[in-house]
Amino acid sequence: MDVQAWVKQVIRQEEIDKYLVKGKDFIDEKKIRTNLEQQAHPDPQRVRDILQKSLSIKLLTPEETAVLLNVTDPALLEEMREAALEVKKRVYDNRIVFFAPLYCSNLCVNRCVYCGFRSDNPEEKRHILSPEEIYRETEAIIDEGHKRLIAVYGEHPKSDADYIADSISTIYAVKRTTPSGNGFNNIRRVNINAAPMAVEDLRKLWRAGIGTFQVFQETYHPGRYAELHPANTIKGNFRWRLYAMHRAMDAGIDDVAIGALFGLYDWKFEVMGLVEHAHDLERQFGIGPHTISFPRMQPAPGSFLSENSPYLVDDDAFKRLVMVLRLAVPYTGLIVTA
Ligand code: SF4
Repeated sequence: MDVQAWVKQVIRQEEIDKYLVKGKDFIDEKKIRTNLEQQAHPDPQRVRDILQKSLSIKLLTPEETAVLLNVTDPALLEEMREAALEVKKRVYDNRIVFFAPLYCSNLCVNRCVYCGFRSDNPEEKRHILSPEEIYRETEAIIDEGHKRLIAVYGEHPKSDADYIADSISTIYAVKRTTPSGNGFNNIRRVNINAAPMAVEDLRKLWRAGIGTFQVFQETYHPGRYAELHPANTIKGNFRWRLYAMHRAMDAGIDDVAIGALFGLYDWKFEVMGLVEHAHDLERQFGIGPHTISFPRMQPAPGSFLSENSPYLVDDDAFKRLVMVLRLAVPYTGLIVTA
């Protein structure tokens, strides 16, 4: 099948429509804006009540999240920071988990404005790892001491679900003898960052033993999303991406990871979008996201926007957004991408 024919058969409308509620998405731009505006001047006692709810490890409502997002008083922010740290200790203690990225392919049929991998970027050199190369890369990652990795793929027929499932099997097959000669080291968990897929393809990944399935919405703002992802590409379909995790759950993958690419749009709106996403997964499947990621946009060769977006997030705002997410979705792992 040629690339254009492949692109045309990826999106299955019925695998979008079944998750809509009365024909509507769980992202309601007007509702998010209203929440942020109505909670613009938070009452300190309300903030403290919300912190108590977080400390009992309960998912906050979007309204409560909007209250925390609007706190600017330094003393209250410090109380929030302490509560966030306490939530982290209660759920995870001092545990921190590392995983290494393994980029398997940078071929991509999409043209996201901010990304160096986009198909119309002539500066990008393209490569897809062969099974032998994946094997050798995995050996190197194991020798660095890693037990978990995340394999990353562009969206392309050459890196389709079958290729991803085969690469998962290759990675699990690699064993390195320990320095003492007793036993072996290997990768215990292969997480996947790939494009949204149909349920049928997601089942292939489930059968191959996928760890966490990770898809970032990039931005939850439909208008901004449309500006950055050309309409005639697969990724231009906002809803196909928005329900990627719903389909993963239906395919049996109940370990899903959501995220937004901070820097594309207003960071408060994105936090609200992530919290709405967690609520909808809980509502429809009884289980929220396993992790939330908050990559920050960095300069990419050939991408003007990556250095000039009006929404780039400074360190202060970044710390606030991580803190609010820790409090809003207390049971979820938070992933810092370096
Ligand atoms: S789909 Fe992913 S890899 Fe492809 S251009 Fe967009 S951001 Fe880059």
